[in-house]
Amino acid sequence: MASHTLVKKQGGTAHRAALCSCPRPTQACIRPWALLIERLGNFFDEERDPLMTQTEDRTSLSTEDTPLVPIEKVVALSKRRGFVYPNSEIYGGVSGIYDFGPLGVELRNNIRRYWWWSMVQLNDNVLGIEGNIITHPRVWEASGHVENFVDRLVDCKNCKRRWRVDHLPAENLEQNKCPFCGGELTEPRTFNLMMETYIGVVEGERMKTYLRGEACQNIYLDYDNVLKSSRIQIPFGICQIGKAFRNEVTPGNFLFRQREFEQWDLQFFVHPSEMQKWFDYWKEYRFEWYKGIINHTDRLRFRAHESNELAHYAKQAFDIEYRSILGWQEWEGIHWRQDWDLSRHSQYSGQDLSYTDPATKERYIPWIVETSGGVDRTFLFLLLDAYEEEPPSDKDKEGRTVLRLHPWFAPVKVAVLPLQKNKEELVTTAKGIHSRLKRLMVAQYDDVSNIGRRYRRQDEIGTPFCVTVDFQTLEDQTVTVRERDGMTQIRLAIDELPGYLVEKVMWS
Ligand code: ATP
Repeated sequence: MASHTLVKKQGGTAHRAALCSCPRPTQACIRPWALLIERLGNFFDEERDPLMTQTEDRTSLSTEDTPLVPIEKVVALSKRRGFVYPNSEIYGGVSGIYDFGPLGVELRNNIRRYWWWSMVQLNDNVLGIEGNIITHPRVWEASGHVENFVDRLVDCKNCKRRWRVDHLPAENLEQNKCPFCGGELTEPRTFNLMMETYIGVVEGERMKTYLRGEACQNIYLDYDNVLKSSRIQIPFGICQIGKAFRNEVTPGNFLFRQREFEQWDLQFFVHPSEMQKWFDYWKEYRFEWYKGIINHTDRLRFRAHESNELAHYAKQAFDIEYRSILGWQEWEGIHWRQDWDLSRHSQYSGQDLSYTDPATKERYIPWIVETSGGVDRTFLFLLLDAYEEEPPSDKDKEGRTVLRLHPWFAPVKVAVLPLQKNKEELVTTAKGIHSRLKRLMVAQYDDVSNIGRRYRRQDEIGTPFCVTVDFQTLEDQTVTVRERDGMTQIRLAIDELPGYLVEKVMWS
């Protein structure tokens, strides 16, 4: 069914065709800070391998036999605990559009920061930009989206289910049969996915344009400016995280397929003779990246695009896929874009986007390796990967729901809990610890209900550490630190807490 006259959404593009009043450290903070710097000494001194490793060994969690989590469980937890809400819920909601609650926004920020850190901050030859959602409409003509950014859709005449033609199993496609009930399918209808909008106020003078259908176009638009303003040379990359909008014809599966979502892209510009080398480099780099953030590493794989999926200029393309209750699904695409994008924008804008090598004076249109994934799918797959319901055990008589998120991603890093809320000294000490820790990381204070219930509340949202202030604290200034995954407890001096916790919640 795939035709090169359609724009295939392969990573994006059309183919064919504080000011914060920063508080100063107080006297009380100085000793913990000194300890923190002492502990982090190694981190700053050592030359480190840029690939990410986690602070804990989590390989034991990876097994073929672990049951896949029903998506409803994650949807329910997200709503109950404030990760994700349906958008405009009081008006009945809008399909494929969601809002993020207090914990969701923390998780999203952590996901974005980690991507940015590992793509832009760690790579000397990669720079970041932030382009706008609205651009000149010609951009989308040049990219081919206006003409060809389409999905083809069929309906089942019997059960009325709707299917994207490119998602139908080959057998159903050949026999024109619904994969659900075997009913006959209608003729395909074609829909453009671009969302229209208008610039200007006077009727008749308004300019029709589009909310961007993929974020990466800004990178091509800003390529020449980045090149000139930063004096960087090929090979180099430009990264961006930003919103994209698509009138998806089959939105659903929670965050998996939305109409407003956020993408992250690297566009890496190379000399044509080096294309294969850089393609292989980024393909492996991105795979290792995803492997480093999940527990069930056996649920990750590459899928090579079939020849009929490839754009005419692409020698190869791979999806990094994750296996969940939704089956094997795309998480990120690694694409061979050749000189397609810069050539098209040169042609449509009349601006010469070729590059002159400063040493050899050779002039050419750079080729591009693209890696294009999404914040929302990462959010969803991290939750599906981390969610676990543990039956009652010796350590926890009632059983618990636990989100085994990496501490770095966890929305709340530490909860501070006085053993009893009616003992003033316990409460005062716990509040003091909380107000010091919250300067370093997201910390929660909680004194509602018994300590076991409070631990379970924190487990459910993935808080990696709970600090309990008890009667011994009042005698020797130590606290209990409980770790989420093993529920092990250690005793630590209050002054050592900041250094200990920061070391545990940072990527190394
Ligand atoms: P699909 O085949 O699933 O529609 P695609 O190939 O169109 O995906 P790309 O255009 O390559 O996707 O977009 C790059 C990335 O953006 C995807 O790998 C995915 O992580 C994310 N993404 C794409 N569409 C959506 C969407 N509707 N909702 C959430 N994330 C999306």
